[in-house]
Amino acid sequence: QAKQLGRNTWQWFSEEMNTQANYRVKIRNQLQDAIDNGTLVIHYQPLIDSRTGQARSVEALVRWEHPEQGLVPPGNFIPLAEETGQIIALGRWVLRQACRDMVRLHAAGFTHCTVAVNVSPIQIRTDSFLETVKEALKASGLPPQSLELEVVESAVLYDTDQVIRILNNLRDLGVRIAIDDFGTGFSSLSYMKLMPANKIKIDRSFIKDVIQNRSDAAITQGVLSMAHHLGLEVVAEGVETDAHASFLKRHHCDLLQGYVFSRPLPYDQLVDYMNHHGFRRGEPSPADSSGHKTLL
Ligand code: C2E
Ligand code: MG
Ligand code: MG
Ligand code: MG
Repeated sequence: QAKQLGRNTWQWFSEEMNTQANYRVKIRNQLQDAIDNGTLVIHYQPLIDSRTGQARSVEALVRWEHPEQGLVPPGNFIPLAEETGQIIALGRWVLRQACRDMVRLHAAGFTHCTVAVNVSPIQIRTDSFLETVKEALKASGLPPQSLELEVVESAVLYDTDQVIRILNNLRDLGVRIAIDDFGTGFSSLSYMKLMPANKIKIDRSFIKDVIQNRSDAAITQGVLSMAHHLGLEVVAEGVETDAHASFLKRHHCDLLQGYVFSRPLPYDQLVDYMNHHGFRRGEPSPADSSGHKTLL
């Protein structure tokens, strides 16, 4: 959390302010208002199939349209929402909205696109979580197979049995599970046997220097090999350069996510992006129409 805050160049809701009770109460009330009155927005970042160069999945990333501060990134308010418990209502809103938006995207012709929603470790442990997921699917009409839930690796470390049970229940619904920020959570490799996941997302800290740094390259290749032998798909996060993309493609990383393809986009811009780079069923092969030909 401190790491996320530190990444931001401006200091609104800095840790120092975080300790000032009045300020916290104010932000907490503003956040409640945002949850209740719709000033949260979701941006969607495409995930690119490395074999075809086409987008076939998107990750939902929440932002806060703050009246004075502009667009506030999640690292500046998710930690507070987790402390106050507001993450439950916030997470429910994101889940519902993401399912609704994905139904619209399917209707626009991208019927194979899946949406990945981040789930807080606190949210996933609440008794109501399974019901919340069922309800979001039912209300939107989104097929469960089109929804993926991203859980950070570290979430599974505490109360492993409980989290694995919850993940299994979600799997039974047909929902997919991705382990986010993989490699940062110090989890024992033996957990990988128990983890009911479909996908692993290699944390972007390994990708950043993967070309120059032999350790990062070795770790990335090792994770890819292990995951594939376990029958899991692999996503690389933070793909920022052509060199990253071609390295990852060469090592058979299934999906690529990063600024070199697209930043997270508001829904309308996502539709534009998908119209150029998205996978549609029944379309001829991609490489020449995707526009990523030079990259991949
Ligand atoms: P995450 O789930 O690991 O999401 C990926 C983050 O990496 C996003 O930051 C995304 O914008 C950023 N990113 C994508 N491509 C690149 C790249 O090429 N280079 C770099 N440097 N960064 C890239 P964002 O949107 O600020 O989200 C930060 C974190 O906030 C997310 O990390 C996730 O843990 C959390 N988050 C976002 N939305 C939600 C939500 O709805 N619920 C919960 N519980 N957490 C959320
Ligand atoms: Mg994520
Ligand atoms: Mg991540
Ligand atoms: Mg992260």
